[in-house]
Amino acid sequence: MPLVVQKYGGSSLADAESIKRVARRIVDTRKAGNQVCVVVSAMGDTTDELLDLADAVTPSAPERELDMLLTAGERMSMALVSMAIANLGDSARSFTGSQAGVITDDVHGKARIIDVTPGRISGALGDGHIVIVAGFQGVSQNTKEITTLGRGGSDTTAVALAAALNADVCEIYTDVDGIFTADPRIVSSAHKVDRISNEEMQEMAASGAKVLMLRCVEYARRFNLPIHVRSSFSHREGTWVYPAAEGEEDVDAEAPIIAGVAHDRSEAKITVVGVKDTPGSAAAIFNLISAQQVNIDMIVQNVSAVATGKTDVSFTLPKSDGQRAVTALQEAKDELGFESLQYDDQIGKLSLIGSGMRSHPGVSATFFQALADAGINIEMITTSEIRVSVITKGDLLDDAVRAVHTAFGLDSSEGEAVVYGGTGR
Ligand code: ADP
Ligand code: ASP
Ligand code: MG
Repeated sequence: MPLVVQKYGGSSLADAESIKRVARRIVDTRKAGNQVCVVVSAMGDTTDELLDLADAVTPSAPERELDMLLTAGERMSMALVSMAIANLGDSARSFTGSQAGVITDDVHGKARIIDVTPGRISGALGDGHIVIVAGFQGVSQNTKEITTLGRGGSDTTAVALAAALNADVCEIYTDVDGIFTADPRIVSSAHKVDRISNEEMQEMAASGAKVLMLRCVEYARRFNLPIHVRSSFSHREGTWVYPAAEGEEDVDAEAPIIAGVAHDRSEAKITVVGVKDTPGSAAAIFNLISAQQVNIDMIVQNVSAVATGKTDVSFTLPKSDGQRAVTALQEAKDELGFESLQYDDQIGKLSLIGSGMRSHPGVSATFFQALADAGINIEMITTSEIRVSVITKGDLLDDAVRAVHTAFGLDSSEGEAVVYGGTGR
Protein backbone atom coordinates (compact mmCIF):
# COMPACT_ATOMS: atom_id res chain seq x y z
CA MET A 1 0.00 0.00 0.00
CA PRO A 2 1.44 3.44 -0.85
CA LEU A 3 2.48 5.57 2.13
CA VAL A 4 1.58 9.26 2.10
CA VAL A 5 3.02 11.79 4.55
CA GLN A 6 0.89 14.93 4.83
CA LYS A 7 1.63 18.06 6.84
CA TYR A 8 -1.07 20.56 7.78
CA GLY A 9 0.07 24.03 8.83
CA GLY A 10 -1.50 26.16 11.55
CA SER A 11 -3.57 28.16 9.08
CA SER A 12 -5.26 24.90 7.97
CA LEU A 13 -6.11 24.03 11.59
CA ALA A 14 -7.27 27.39 12.87
CA ASP A 15 -10.51 26.25 14.56
CA ALA A 16 -12.78 23.25 15.18
CA GLU A 17 -14.38 23.51 11.74
CA SER A 18 -10.98 23.53 10.03
CA ILE A 19 -9.88 20.53 12.06
CA LYS A 20 -12.97 18.61 10.96
CA ARG A 21 -12.35 19.61 7.34
CA VAL A 22 -8.72 18.41 7.53
CA ALA A 23 -9.83 15.16 9.19
CA ARG A 24 -12.19 14.54 6.28
CA ARG A 25 -9.33 15.02 3.81
CA ILE A 26 -7.11 12.64 5.75
CA VAL A 27 -9.82 9.98 5.87
CA ASP A 28 -10.42 10.39 2.12
CA THR A 29 -6.71 9.81 1.50
CA ARG A 30 -6.84 6.66 3.61
CA LYS A 31 -10.00 5.46 1.84
CA ALA A 32 -8.27 5.95 -1.51
CA GLY A 33 -6.01 3.08 -0.48
CA ASN A 34 -3.04 4.74 1.22
CA GLN A 35 -1.32 4.43 4.56
CA VAL A 36 -1.37 7.96 5.98
CA CYS A 37 1.05 9.61 8.38
CA VAL A 38 0.06 13.20 9.18
CA VAL A 39 2.21 15.92 10.76
CA VAL A 40 0.35 18.81 12.36
CA SER A 41 1.34 22.32 13.43
CA ALA A 42 -0.20 24.31 16.26
CA MET A 43 -3.64 25.80 15.57
CA GLY A 44 -3.67 29.22 13.88
CA ASP A 45 -1.30 31.64 15.59
CA THR A 46 -1.02 29.54 18.77
CA THR A 47 2.78 29.48 18.74
CA ASP A 48 2.93 33.29 18.58
CA GLU A 49 0.30 33.57 21.30
CA LEU A 50 2.25 31.20 23.55
CA LEU A 51 5.39 33.27 22.95
CA ASP A 52 3.46 36.45 23.85
CA LEU A 53 2.22 34.75 26.99
CA ALA A 54 5.72 33.71 28.03
CA ASP A 55 6.89 37.26 27.36
CA ALA A 56 4.15 38.65 29.60
CA VAL A 57 5.30 36.36 32.41
CA THR A 58 9.02 37.01 32.07
CA PRO A 59 11.28 38.81 29.60
CA SER A 60 13.81 35.97 29.81
CA ALA A 61 12.09 32.60 29.84
CA PRO A 62 14.45 29.64 30.35
CA GLU A 63 14.88 27.94 26.97
CA ARG A 64 13.94 24.52 28.33
CA GLU A 65 10.64 25.79 29.67
CA LEU A 66 9.91 27.73 26.50
CA ASP A 67 10.20 24.49 24.53
CA MET A 68 7.93 22.72 27.01
CA LEU A 69 5.39 25.50 26.49
CA LEU A 70 5.60 25.72 22.68
CA THR A 71 5.38 21.97 22.09
CA ALA A 72 1.99 22.04 23.82
CA GLY A 73 0.58 23.84 20.75
CA GLU A 74 1.26 20.90 18.43
CA ARG A 75 0.07 18.40 21.07
CA MET A 76 -3.33 20.11 21.11
CA SER A 77 -3.60 19.81 17.34
CA MET A 78 -2.55 16.16 17.17
CA ALA A 79 -5.12 15.07 19.75
CA LEU A 80 -7.93 17.14 18.20
CA VAL A 81 -7.24 15.91 14.66
CA SER A 82 -7.09 12.36 15.95
CA MET A 83 -10.45 12.80 17.73
CA ALA A 84 -12.03 14.30 14.62
CA ILE A 85 -10.90 11.26 12.62
CA ALA A 86 -12.37 8.92 15.23
CA ASN A 87 -15.60 10.86 14.91
CA LEU A 88 -15.63 10.03 11.20
CA GLY A 89 -15.41 6.36 12.10
CA ASP A 90 -11.76 5.80 11.22
CA SER A 91 -9.03 5.00 13.69
CA ALA A 92 -6.15 7.36 14.39
CA ARG A 93 -3.30 7.42 16.92
CA SER A 94 -1.48 10.60 17.86
CA PHE A 95 2.19 10.75 18.88
CA THR A 96 4.42 13.51 20.20
CA GLY A 97 7.68 14.15 18.36
CA SER A 98 9.54 12.22 21.02
CA GLN A 99 7.19 9.22 20.74
CA ALA A 100 7.52 9.39 16.96
CA GLY A 101 11.29 8.95 17.28
CA VAL A 102 12.38 12.44 16.23
CA ILE A 103 15.83 12.59 17.84
CA THR A 104 17.58 15.95 17.92
CA ASP A 105 20.69 17.64 19.26
CA ASP A 106 20.28 19.51 22.55
CA VAL A 107 19.89 23.11 21.30
CA HIS A 108 16.57 24.43 22.60
CA GLY A 109 14.59 26.61 20.19
CA LYS A 110 16.46 25.52 17.05
CA ALA A 111 17.34 21.87 17.49
CA ARG A 112 18.58 19.86 14.52
CA ILE A 113 17.22 16.42 13.77
CA ILE A 114 20.07 13.92 14.02
CA ASP A 115 18.09 10.71 13.67
CA VAL A 116 14.53 9.47 13.17
CA THR A 117 13.55 6.10 14.65
CA PRO A 118 9.90 5.78 13.67
CA GLY A 119 9.29 2.30 15.11
CA ARG A 120 6.04 3.23 16.84
CA ILE A 121 4.78 5.03 13.73
CA SER A 122 5.48 2.05 11.47
CA GLY A 123 3.85 -0.20 14.04
CA ALA A 124 0.67 1.88 14.22
CA LEU A 125 0.50 2.19 10.42
CA GLY A 126 0.96 -1.56 10.15
CA ASP A 127 -1.92 -2.04 12.57
CA GLY A 128 -4.13 -0.09 10.18
CA HIS A 129 -4.25 3.22 12.06
CA ILE A 130 -3.90 6.68 10.62
CA VAL A 131 -0.95 8.27 12.45
CA ILE A 132 -0.91 11.90 13.60
CA VAL A 133 2.44 13.32 14.72
CA ALA A 134 3.01 16.61 16.54
CA GLY A 135 5.37 18.62 14.33
CA PHE A 136 8.12 21.07 15.29
CA GLN A 137 9.45 18.97 18.19
CA GLY A 138 11.79 16.20 19.14
CA VAL A 139 13.80 14.85 22.02
CA SER A 140 17.49 15.44 22.63
CA GLN A 141 19.67 12.37 22.36
CA ASN A 142 22.03 13.61 25.08
CA THR A 143 19.89 15.46 27.58
CA LYS A 144 16.58 13.60 26.95
CA GLU A 145 14.90 17.00 27.07
CA ILE A 146 12.08 18.05 24.75
CA THR A 147 13.32 20.39 22.00
CA THR A 148 11.76 22.50 19.25
CA LEU A 149 13.12 22.76 15.72
CA GLY A 150 12.69 26.51 15.11
CA ARG A 151 9.82 28.47 13.56
CA GLY A 152 8.10 26.61 10.73
CA GLY A 153 9.68 23.39 12.01
CA SER A 154 6.70 21.13 11.27
CA ASP A 155 7.71 21.26 7.61
CA THR A 156 11.01 19.67 8.62
CA THR A 157 9.28 17.05 10.77
CA ALA A 158 7.20 16.04 7.74
CA VAL A 159 10.16 15.71 5.39
CA ALA A 160 12.23 13.87 8.02
CA LEU A 161 9.42 11.37 8.64
CA ALA A 162 8.79 10.94 4.91
CA ALA A 163 12.49 10.13 4.43
CA ALA A 164 12.64 7.78 7.43
CA LEU A 165 9.43 5.95 6.46
CA ASN A 166 10.46 5.85 2.79
CA ALA A 167 7.12 7.46 1.91
CA ASP A 168 5.83 7.61 -1.65
CA VAL A 169 4.72 11.24 -1.35
CA CYS A 170 5.36 14.14 1.04
CA GLU A 171 2.58 16.72 0.85
CA ILE A 172 2.78 20.07 2.64
CA TYR A 173 -0.72 21.55 2.99
CA THR A 174 -0.98 25.28 3.56
CA ASP A 175 -3.25 28.29 2.95
CA VAL A 176 -2.18 29.08 -0.63
CA ASP A 177 -2.24 26.89 -3.76
CA GLY A 178 1.50 26.25 -3.84
CA ILE A 179 4.67 28.24 -4.33
CA PHE A 180 4.13 31.53 -6.08
CA THR A 181 6.50 33.89 -7.86
CA ALA A 182 6.16 36.18 -4.80
CA ASP A 183 4.21 36.16 -1.55
CA PRO A 184 0.56 36.35 -2.71
CA ARG A 185 -0.26 38.41 0.39
CA ILE A 186 1.84 41.23 -1.07
CA VAL A 187 1.71 40.61 -4.80
CA SER A 188 -1.83 39.72 -5.80
CA SER A 189 -0.65 39.23 -9.40
CA ALA A 190 1.87 36.56 -8.36
CA HIS A 191 1.39 33.25 -10.14
CA LYS A 192 1.72 29.70 -8.89
CA VAL A 193 4.57 27.72 -10.37
CA ASP A 194 4.09 24.04 -11.19
CA ARG A 195 7.67 23.09 -10.35
CA ILE A 196 10.68 24.70 -8.74
CA SER A 197 14.12 23.22 -8.22
CA ASN A 198 15.16 22.40 -4.70
CA GLU A 199 18.14 24.71 -5.15
CA GLU A 200 15.94 27.69 -6.04
CA MET A 201 13.50 26.87 -3.23
CA GLN A 202 16.39 26.86 -0.77
CA GLU A 203 17.33 30.38 -1.85
CA MET A 204 13.65 31.48 -1.68
CA ALA A 205 13.28 30.05 1.84
CA ALA A 206 16.61 31.49 2.99
CA SER A 207 15.46 34.87 1.64
CA GLY A 208 12.26 34.94 3.67
CA ALA A 209 9.62 32.96 1.71
CA LYS A 210 8.28 31.18 4.76
CA VAL A 211 5.96 28.89 2.77
CA LEU A 212 8.59 26.22 3.44
CA MET A 213 11.11 26.23 6.26
CA LEU A 214 14.68 26.39 4.92
CA ARG A 215 15.81 23.34 6.87
CA CYS A 216 13.00 21.24 5.42
CA VAL A 217 14.14 22.07 1.90
CA GLU A 218 17.77 21.26 2.77
CA TYR A 219 16.67 17.99 4.34
CA ALA A 220 14.64 17.04 1.26
CA ARG A 221 17.64 17.72 -0.94
CA ARG A 222 19.90 15.54 1.19
CA PHE A 223 17.43 12.65 0.95
CA ASN A 224 16.57 13.31 -2.70
CA LEU A 225 12.90 13.66 -1.78
CA PRO A 226 10.37 15.62 -3.86
CA ILE A 227 7.86 17.77 -1.92
CA HIS A 228 4.36 18.66 -3.08
CA VAL A 229 3.24 22.02 -1.63
CA ARG A 230 -0.51 22.57 -1.98
CA SER A 231 -3.60 24.07 -0.42
CA SER A 232 -5.71 22.27 2.18
CA PHE A 233 -8.61 24.51 1.08
CA SER A 234 -8.72 23.38 -2.57
CA HIS A 235 -8.04 20.24 -4.57
CA ARG A 236 -5.79 21.95 -7.08
CA GLU A 237 -2.43 20.47 -7.97
CA GLY A 238 0.20 22.48 -6.10
CA THR A 239 3.92 22.97 -6.68
CA TRP A 240 6.52 20.21 -6.85
CA VAL A 241 9.87 21.04 -5.32
CA TYR A 242 12.09 18.61 -7.16
CA PRO A 243 15.58 17.51 -6.19
CA ALA A 244 18.46 17.27 -8.66
CA ALA A 245 19.31 13.86 -10.00
CA GLU A 246 22.30 12.28 -8.29
CA GLY A 247 25.52 14.19 -9.00
CA GLU A 248 23.77 16.78 -11.18
CA GLU A 249 23.03 20.43 -10.68
CA ASP A 250 19.39 21.49 -10.49
CA VAL A 251 19.40 22.55 -14.11
CA ASP A 252 16.12 22.53 -15.96
CA ALA A 253 16.50 23.72 -19.54
CA GLU A 254 12.79 24.58 -19.75
CA ALA A 255 12.77 26.61 -16.54
CA PRO A 256 12.26 30.37 -16.67
CA ILE A 257 15.25 32.57 -15.85
CA ILE A 258 13.62 33.90 -12.70
CA ALA A 259 11.93 31.60 -10.16
CA GLY A 260 10.58 34.35 -7.95
CA VAL A 261 10.96 37.33 -5.66
CA ALA A 262 11.23 36.90 -1.89
CA HIS A 263 11.16 39.42 0.92
CA ASP A 264 12.18 39.46 4.55
CA ARG A 265 11.37 41.89 7.35
CA SER A 266 13.11 40.00 10.10
CA GLU A 267 16.51 41.65 9.83
CA ALA A 268 18.08 44.79 11.30
CA LYS A 269 21.16 46.73 10.24
CA ILE A 270 24.08 47.84 12.39
CA THR A 271 26.61 50.36 11.12
CA VAL A 272 29.89 50.68 12.95
CA VAL A 273 31.01 54.23 12.15
CA GLY A 274 34.65 55.34 12.04
CA VAL A 275 36.50 52.04 12.12
CA LYS A 276 40.28 52.11 11.51
CA ASP A 277 40.94 50.83 7.97
CA THR A 278 43.71 48.46 9.07
CA PRO A 279 44.11 44.68 8.92
CA GLY A 280 42.25 43.03 11.76
CA SER A 281 39.52 45.66 12.30
CA ALA A 282 36.76 43.64 10.65
CA ALA A 283 38.00 40.45 12.28
CA ALA A 284 37.75 42.08 15.72
CA ILE A 285 34.15 43.23 15.09
CA PHE A 286 32.92 39.93 13.70
CA ASN A 287 34.74 37.83 16.31
CA LEU A 288 32.85 39.75 18.93
CA ILE A 289 29.52 39.25 17.14
CA SER A 290 30.16 35.57 16.61
CA ALA A 291 30.95 35.12 20.31
CA GLN A 292 27.36 36.29 20.89
CA GLN A 293 26.13 33.39 18.70
CA VAL A 294 24.64 35.90 16.25
CA ASN A 295 24.42 34.99 12.54
CA ILE A 296 25.37 37.77 10.17
CA ASP A 297 23.74 38.02 6.77
CA MET A 298 24.96 40.90 4.59
CA ILE A 299 28.19 42.87 5.14
CA VAL A 300 29.33 46.08 3.46
CA GLN A 301 32.52 48.03 4.12
CA ASN A 302 32.88 51.50 2.65
CA VAL A 303 36.03 52.87 1.08
CA SER A 304 37.95 54.71 3.79
CA ALA A 305 38.08 58.49 3.77
CA VAL A 306 41.57 59.59 2.66
CA ALA A 307 41.79 62.30 5.34
CA THR A 308 41.03 60.08 8.31
CA GLY A 309 41.93 56.56 7.12
CA LYS A 310 38.67 55.47 8.73
CA THR A 311 35.73 53.60 7.28
CA ASP A 312 32.21 52.39 8.12
CA VAL A 313 31.22 48.74 8.34
CA SER A 314 27.52 47.81 8.01
CA PHE A 315 25.97 44.40 8.47
CA THR A 316 22.55 42.85 8.86
CA LEU A 317 21.46 40.34 11.48
CA PRO A 318 18.18 38.95 12.85
CA LYS A 319 16.18 41.69 14.61
CA SER A 320 15.80 39.36 17.57
CA ASP A 321 19.60 39.46 18.10
CA GLY A 322 19.91 43.21 17.46
CA GLN A 323 20.01 44.56 21.00
CA ARG A 324 22.41 41.86 22.16
CA ALA A 325 24.86 42.69 19.35
CA VAL A 326 24.58 46.46 19.96
CA THR A 327 25.24 46.02 23.68
CA ALA A 328 28.28 43.81 23.04
CA LEU A 329 29.71 46.31 20.54
CA GLN A 330 29.11 49.28 22.86
CA GLU A 331 30.89 47.50 25.69
CA ALA A 332 33.91 46.91 23.43
CA LYS A 333 33.92 50.44 21.96
CA ASP A 334 37.36 51.45 23.29
CA GLU A 335 38.97 48.18 22.42
CA LEU A 336 37.56 48.21 18.86
CA GLY A 337 38.28 51.92 18.44
CA PHE A 338 35.21 52.97 16.46
CA GLU A 339 33.43 56.33 16.73
CA SER A 340 29.75 55.46 17.00
CA LEU A 341 27.06 52.88 16.25
CA GLN A 342 23.86 53.16 14.23
CA TYR A 343 21.04 50.67 14.60
CA ASP A 344 18.12 50.44 12.16
CA ASP A 345 15.41 47.81 12.49
CA GLN A 346 13.09 49.43 9.93
CA ILE A 347 14.68 47.78 6.92
CA GLY A 348 13.52 45.19 4.40
CA LYS A 349 15.37 42.70 2.28
CA LEU A 350 14.30 41.95 -1.27
CA SER A 351 15.75 39.01 -3.21
CA LEU A 352 15.42 37.92 -6.82
CA ILE A 353 16.03 34.21 -7.33
CA GLY A 354 16.55 32.11 -10.43
CA SER A 355 19.04 29.53 -11.60
CA GLY A 356 18.82 31.05 -15.10
CA MET A 357 20.87 33.98 -13.76
CA ARG A 358 23.95 31.82 -14.15
CA SER A 359 23.71 31.97 -17.91
CA HIS A 360 21.73 35.16 -18.61
CA PRO A 361 23.54 38.48 -18.37
CA GLY A 362 21.59 41.65 -17.65
CA VAL A 363 19.47 40.35 -14.77
CA SER A 364 21.06 42.75 -12.26
CA ALA A 365 20.68 45.68 -14.65
CA THR A 366 16.91 45.05 -15.05
CA PHE A 367 16.60 44.57 -11.29
CA PHE A 368 18.31 47.83 -10.35
CA GLN A 369 16.50 49.74 -13.10
CA ALA A 370 13.14 48.54 -11.77
CA LEU A 371 14.03 49.82 -8.30
CA ALA A 372 15.32 53.10 -9.72
CA ASP A 373 12.12 53.63 -11.74
CA ALA A 374 10.09 53.03 -8.57
CA GLY A 375 12.22 55.63 -6.74
CA ILE A 376 13.55 53.11 -4.24
CA ASN A 377 16.99 53.64 -2.76
CA ILE A 378 19.27 50.65 -2.21
CA GLU A 379 21.21 50.51 1.06
CA MET A 380 23.13 47.26 0.64
CA ILE A 381 23.60 44.61 -2.05
CA THR A 382 24.71 40.97 -2.02
CA THR A 383 24.65 38.30 -4.67
CA SER A 384 25.07 34.57 -4.97
CA GLU A 385 25.23 32.55 -8.17
CA ILE A 386 21.43 32.42 -8.44
CA ARG A 387 20.29 35.37 -6.28
CA VAL A 388 20.54 39.16 -6.02
CA SER A 389 19.46 40.73 -2.72
CA VAL A 390 19.15 44.35 -1.63
CA ILE A 391 18.25 46.17 1.57
CA THR A 392 15.67 48.96 1.29
CA LYS A 393 13.72 51.05 3.78
CA GLY A 394 11.13 48.80 5.43
CA ASP A 395 8.12 50.88 4.39
CA LEU A 396 9.15 50.71 0.71
CA LEU A 397 9.64 46.94 0.66
CA ASP A 398 6.17 45.98 -0.63
CA ASP A 399 6.43 48.50 -3.48
CA ALA A 400 9.91 47.23 -4.29
CA VAL A 401 8.70 43.61 -4.44
CA ARG A 402 5.85 44.54 -6.78
CA ALA A 403 8.08 46.67 -9.04
CA VAL A 404 10.65 43.91 -9.48
CA HIS A 405 7.96 41.26 -9.97
CA THR A 406 6.46 43.29 -12.80
CA ALA A 407 9.81 44.19 -14.35
CA PHE A 408 10.64 40.51 -14.83
CA GLY A 409 7.30 39.77 -16.48
CA LEU A 410 6.13 37.58 -13.62
CA ASP A 411 2.67 39.12 -13.24
CA SER A 412 -0.13 36.64 -13.87
CA SER A 413 -2.71 37.27 -16.55
CA GLU A 414 -5.15 34.88 -14.86
CA GLY A 415 -6.54 37.03 -12.08
CA GLU A 416 -5.56 37.42 -8.46
CA ALA A 417 -3.75 34.81 -6.38
CA VAL A 418 -5.98 33.26 -3.71
CA VAL A 419 -5.03 33.35 -0.03
CA TYR A 420 -7.48 30.99 1.68
CA GLY A 421 -6.69 31.57 5.32
CA GLY A 422 -4.07 32.51 7.86
CA THR A 423 -3.26 35.92 9.24
CA GLY A 424 0.20 36.22 7.73
CA ARG A 425 1.64 36.59 11.24
P1 ADP B 1 1.44 27.19 7.40
O1 ADP B 1 0.60 27.66 8.53
O2 ADP B 1 0.67 26.30 6.46
O3 ADP B 1 2.75 26.59 7.81
P2 ADP B 1 2.88 29.55 6.59
O4 ADP B 1 2.25 30.84 7.02
O5 ADP B 1 4.07 29.09 7.33
O6 ADP B 1 1.72 28.46 6.54
O7 ADP B 1 3.29 29.64 5.04
C1 ADP B 1 2.32 29.98 4.06
C2 ADP B 1 2.45 31.45 3.73
O8 ADP B 1 3.71 31.70 3.12
C3 ADP B 1 1.46 31.96 2.71
O9 ADP B 1 0.22 32.29 3.29
C4 ADP B 1 2.18 33.17 2.13
O10 ADP B 1 1.74 34.38 2.71
C5 ADP B 1 3.64 32.97 2.52
N1 ADP B 1 4.54 33.02 1.37
C6 ADP B 1 5.67 33.76 1.30
N2 ADP B 1 6.26 33.64 0.12
C7 ADP B 1 5.51 32.78 -0.60
C8 ADP B 1 5.62 32.25 -1.92
N3 ADP B 1 6.62 32.58 -2.72
N4 ADP B 1 4.67 31.39 -2.34
C9 ADP B 1 3.63 31.04 -1.53
N5 ADP B 1 3.48 31.52 -0.27
C10 ADP B 1 4.41 32.38 0.20
N1 ASP C 1 3.92 26.00 15.22
C1 ASP C 1 5.28 26.24 14.84
C2 ASP C 1 5.45 27.66 14.34
O1 ASP C 1 4.49 28.41 14.31
C3 ASP C 1 5.81 25.26 13.85
C4 ASP C 1 5.15 25.28 12.51
O2 ASP C 1 4.10 25.90 12.33
O3 ASP C 1 5.68 24.66 11.58
O4 ASP C 1 6.53 28.05 13.99
MG1 MG D 1 4.77 27.22 8.02
